[in-house]
Amino acid sequence: MDKKLEDIFSFDETAADCVKCGKCIPVCTIHNVNTDEVTSPRGFIDLLGAYKKGHLELDKNAKDIFESCFLCTACVEVCPKSLPTDMLIEQARADIAQKFGIAWYKKAFFLLLRHRWLNDLAFKLGWVFQTCGFKIKADIDSMHSRFNLPMLKADRLLPSLRKTSFLNTHPENISNGGKRKVAIFIGCLGNYNYRNVGDALLEILEYLEIDAFLAKDQKCCSAPAYFTGDFDTVDHNAKFNIEYFEKFAADVEAIIVPEATCSAMLKIDYEHFFHDQPEWKARAKAVMSKVYMATEWLQHHTDLEEILAKKQKLPQIVTYHDPCHAKKMQGIHEEPRSLIRQNYKIVEMSDPNRCCGFGGVTMQSEKFHFAQAAGKPKAAMIKETNAEIVSAECSACRMQITNSMGVESTTVFKNPIELIAEALKR
Ligand code: SF4
Ligand code: SF4
Repeated sequence: MDKKLEDIFSFDETAADCVKCGKCIPVCTIHNVNTDEVTSPRGFIDLLGAYKKGHLELDKNAKDIFESCFLCTACVEVCPKSLPTDMLIEQARADIAQKFGIAWYKKAFFLLLRHRWLNDLAFKLGWVFQTCGFKIKADIDSMHSRFNLPMLKADRLLPSLRKTSFLNTHPENISNGGKRKVAIFIGCLGNYNYRNVGDALLEILEYLEIDAFLAKDQKCCSAPAYFTGDFDTVDHNAKFNIEYFEKFAADVEAIIVPEATCSAMLKIDYEHFFHDQPEWKARAKAVMSKVYMATEWLQHHTDLEEILAKKQKLPQIVTYHDPCHAKKMQGIHEEPRSLIRQNYKIVEMSDPNRCCGFGGVTMQSEKFHFAQAAGKPKAAMIKETNAEIVSAECSACRMQITNSMGVESTTVFKNPIELIAEALKR
């Protein structure tokens, strides 16, 4: 990995390494909804190579092309050379942000991500995370008309909002009388929108008699800023989180995260981001080695699976979607299934590994038509299973899939952590 890391940001070398085999084309999320060679991994790599050699100007057309990648890493997974198209595009987006600036609403959103107290205040005022951005609910309509976007099903997207965030509801240290202790990194969507996930995780830890440290000072992992090229925000939040985690890491067995994108950002992308800051790269690598996805840690480090096996079988059928940041980036796919299948019947959809089409802030605002198009096949394959529940350990997938399924769907979305907590109560 280290050798690759050194080469990752050499765009022209990567372009030369591409053997044009085309294996990445059928799995590419953007190419599937915009079948143009320039919006394919092979096309992106060629253009990025030309850009770095000075043969391509970073104009509005190039910006538009580089912003159309979903950063799903499907191409990296199948590429015989493991070429890091997603990372090259992340770097190019930083250049785009430098040259063109960042739209006002994204700037406002990233400012909130830097300051938890601002996030908390906005939440109290009734603002909500919506498609990875904070927007005033009353302003959603005007935002949509401003960007000429189709209306989202807001009621489906904005579940049971309460005025107190997850982190502000519970004490920082929760003793379950156990001899073991873990920290929880909940992420922004889990903290504000989908609070049931954190509550369910606390119920599981209580059942297992494992103490919890809520890591209340945590800042956003900064994934939305990273994918948009706002590297100042990434630098700010990543350094804060590294220093903060270093203070308590020795006191806990693990830092568990019920969110694929946050855990991949902390565990993998921080190291990539600090490739040219060796001290911070080493510190990120050391402290983030304690980070696990919640199902990953529960499956490998507790006897939860055996406990669940003795519990009641529940009648609901579940289909599991593999978040890109879980399976492709972290290799986590069997762990949630092993736990869920103890109490629920799992019916696999035709392609659980296919990206749901969330794509990040830009995709969900300026390029929402691509997100919608990419979401349709995922919604269709979920429907084919006749499952009552679709599950994925990722709140961004939850937002996108819930929206793609539409209000008419009777299938509900649950994080595997919620399913496990429900099974434990039986
Ligand atoms: S990261 Fe996803 S959308 Fe981007 S080029 Fe690769 S497969 Fe296509
Ligand atoms: S799979 Fe890899 S080597 Fe083959 S065309 Fe795609 S990027 Fe190039």
